Amino acid sequence: MRPPAVLAIHGGAGPAPDDADDADDHGSRWARQAAGLAAALRAGLAVLSGGGAALEAVLAAVTVLEDDEEWNAGRGSALTAAGTVEMDAAVADGRGRRLGGVAAVTGVRHPVLAARAVMDDGRHVLLAGPGAEAFAREAGLAFEPQKWFITDRRRRALARRPVADRTPPVGGSTVGAVARDAGGHLAAATSTGGRTGQIPGRVGDSPVPGAGTWAEDATCAVSATGVGEAFLRAAFAHEVDARLRLEGADLDAACRAALAAVTAAGGDGGCIAVSGEGRPVMPFTTGLMHRGWVEVGGPMWVAAAPGPLQRID
Ligand code: ASP
Repeated sequence: MRPPAVLAIHGGAGPAPDDADDADDHGSRWARQAAGLAAALRAGLAVLSGGGAALEAVLAAVTVLEDDEEWNAGRGSALTAAGTVEMDAAVADGRGRRLGGVAAVTGVRHPVLAARAVMDDGRHVLLAGPGAEAFAREAGLAFEPQKWFITDRRRRALARRPVADRTPPVGGSTVGAVARDAGGHLAAATSTGGRTGQIPGRVGDSPVPGAGTWAEDATCAVSATGVGEAFLRAAFAHEVDARLRLEGADLDAACRAALAAVTAAGGDGGCIAVSGEGRPVMPFTTGLMHRGWVEVGGPMWVAAAPGPLQRID
């Protein structure tokens, strides 16, 4: 019998308390974030329960989080040093290493759908900047004015941290999803506004295949979060894949070893990953990683605050 279809999501890794806004009440923000994670899980679960593909499930979950200003993706994205929003996203379909990504895009309401359009088009894997925006327009995707993306929380965060440094982005809040569908296929998606105070034009690990996002049916689907420069230096998601493929490592051990390589590269963070069998794993080296998972026919598990996953019925 095939293992059940399953979906895991993350809402970024960072120090605990994770708040990018110290004037805010952590408790009420965590409650809003827990509700947001549950809504994203429900959206993805609806796809999987109806027999839909892992790819559609991860896109359904991530688009919900991109519209929710609590997260560093889509509306509510972190601001560059110039006070602008530039977003990165990627999608990976484990059936035949189909990959698509967009980097440093502005105005695209759902960067992850632009990544999907790049993947479906198939000529390229990664498009950046104005070219990626023109491509998304051509694909008929929704656009919003720059001010729609910029929230007061992110303005205050930029005032506190005008220049990105090597420490994890306060608040993290990048979003991602991995899934396995009833047919055993795997998919991953990640979407982010990058890091507060980043130099305009900076691209992180999230849209880069084999760094922040990866899916291959034979091994695993991975979505990472944390200090992108260190995940790029560690070739993080490729490292997880390689340990499964070449060493026959267990998924959790492979992710932890790859996170150790990230630490050695000078950063921290976490990931969610799923393989062809078993439950998702979600290790992290920061104080907190917002996360949740659900299996078709099972309860929902969410952690929006420091501490273990909580069951939501
Ligand atoms: N990894 C993302 C980046 O560096 C940020 C994050 O995960 O919080 O762009």
